[in-house]
Amino acid sequence: MTSDKTRPPAMRLHRRTALITDGFDPQLSVGSARPAVFRSSTYVFSSPEAGERAFALALGKDTPREGESPELIYARLSHPNAEILEEQLLPLEPGATRAAVFNSGMAAISTVALALCRPGSRLVYTTPAYGGTVHLIHQLLEPYGIVAIAVDAGDTGGLLRAIGTTPDLELVLIETPANPTLRVTDIAAAAATASARSHRPIVAVDNTFLGPAFQHPLMLGADLALYSATKYLGGFSDLLGGVVLSSDPELDARIRGARAILGNILQPDECWLLTSRLPTVTLRMRQQCAGAQQIVKRLVGHPAIGRLLYPTLVEDAEQRSIAKSQSSSPGAIFSIELRGGKAAAFEFLRTLRIIRDAVSLGGVESLACHPASTTHSELDEDAQARSGVTPSLVRVSVGLEDPRDLLDDIRAGLDAALVVSAGAKRVPAR
Ligand SMILES: *Cc1c(COP(=O)(O)O)cnc(C)c1O
Repeated sequence: MTSDKTRPPAMRLHRRTALITDGFDPQLSVGSARPAVFRSSTYVFSSPEAGERAFALALGKDTPREGESPELIYARLSHPNAEILEEQLLPLEPGATRAAVFNSGMAAISTVALALCRPGSRLVYTTPAYGGTVHLIHQLLEPYGIVAIAVDAGDTGGLLRAIGTTPDLELVLIETPANPTLRVTDIAAAAATASARSHRPIVAVDNTFLGPAFQHPLMLGADLALYSATKYLGGFSDLLGGVVLSSDPELDARIRGARAILGNILQPDECWLLTSRLPTVTLRMRQQCAGAQQIVKRLVGHPAIGRLLYPTLVEDAEQRSIAKSQSSSPGAIFSIELRGGKAAAFEFLRTLRIIRDAVSLGGVESLACHPASTTHSELDEDAQARSGVTPSLVRVSVGLEDPRDLLDDIRAGLDAALVVSAGAKRVPAR
C-alpha cells in the first residue's frame, strides 16, 4: 500500500537514505512530497473478495503471498500513516524487519507483556525500571497472576540465574541503562542464556535511553527493542508514542494482534508528526550527547556533588566492559547525587533557570527531575535505597541548548545546594 513503486526493488540504500525514502510513495499521497495524513477510521475494499482476503490475513488464517499487500480494513488494525512510520523506523534499528507503533511507550510495553504472558507465566525484569513499567507489573500483571521476578540492573550473575532457571518464563524485560542510576545490564549475555533454554523466553529491551542512535539490542540477540517514542524519537516533548521492533514475523503478528484488541495503535496525526522527526533523531542525539559529555566533564569535583552518575565516570570494571560492548556512546542523561539530601536536591531544582523541573527526557529542551519524589515515588524506601534512587539524586536530560549556558545554570544550582547542605550539616539528616 505504501511502498514506493517508482524505485527498483534491487536498489539497496544506506540507512540514512532509506530512512527518508523507504515506505512512502508520493503517488499514494496525491503527489505530495511528504506523506499526507489519512485520518479515516475505515477503508473501502476494492471488491468483496479483497475484503474477505484482508480479513483472512488480518486474522492469521493465511499468510500473504510473495509481493501481496493486503488492503486496509479499519484504522484500529492499521492505517497508512502507521504503515509509513513503521517502515521508516526500520533503517534506524539494525536487525529489525518489523515495527509496530503504539499510543505511548507504556502502551507498547503493556501490549508486549499482555501478548506474551498468561496467568502463571513468569517475567524477569531489571530494577530500577521506568516508574510506569513498575506500576504495570505491580498493579496489572501480578493481580492477573503473572509472577514477576526483579533482578538488580547490572547483576549479571543474578540475571543469568533467573533467566536460566525460572520455570514458565515467558518474558525478560531489560531496561539499560537503568533509569535513573544509569547502571547497565548485559543484553548479549541475557539473550544467550535465554537461547539455551528449550522454551526460549522472549528478551525485550527498553531502548529508550540510548536508542536508536547508540545501542542496538536486536544485534545483540534480543528479540524486541522497545521505545518510548515520546523521548528521543519524538524529540520535542510534544507527542506521546511507543514502538516495538523485531525481526520475527510471528512474534510481530502476536503483538499486533494484541494491539488490535487493545486499540492502542498510534493515531494518524501522531504517526505523521513522528515520521517527520525520524531523519533528525541521530543528529539530535549526537549533539545532545556531546553537550552532556562537555557538561559532565566540568562538573567533576564540584563540592556540592556527592556522586556524579554517567557511564564515562563508572569505575566498576564489569560495568565499563558491558557499556563498551553494547553501546557506542554514554548518552545525554546524567544524574547528580547532591551532598545535603533531599533539601539540597530541591534547592538545586528551584534555582535552575534554563533547565526546567519536569519528568521526561530526550527533548531538545533540557529537563531535570527528582526521581525519588516523582517518577520513582512508588518504590518504598527500601526499594529506593536498593536501586540507588536516593533522596539526594536529581536526573538531568541534556537538550540542544548551548552547553556553556547549561553548565552555568547547573553551577548556580549546585552553589545554592551547597548553602543548604552546609546549613543541614548541623542537623543529622539523611
Ligand atoms: C518514558 C519512558 C517510558 C514510558 O513511555 P511513555 O511514552 O511515557 O508511555 C518507558 N520506558 C522508559 C525508559 C521511559 O523513559
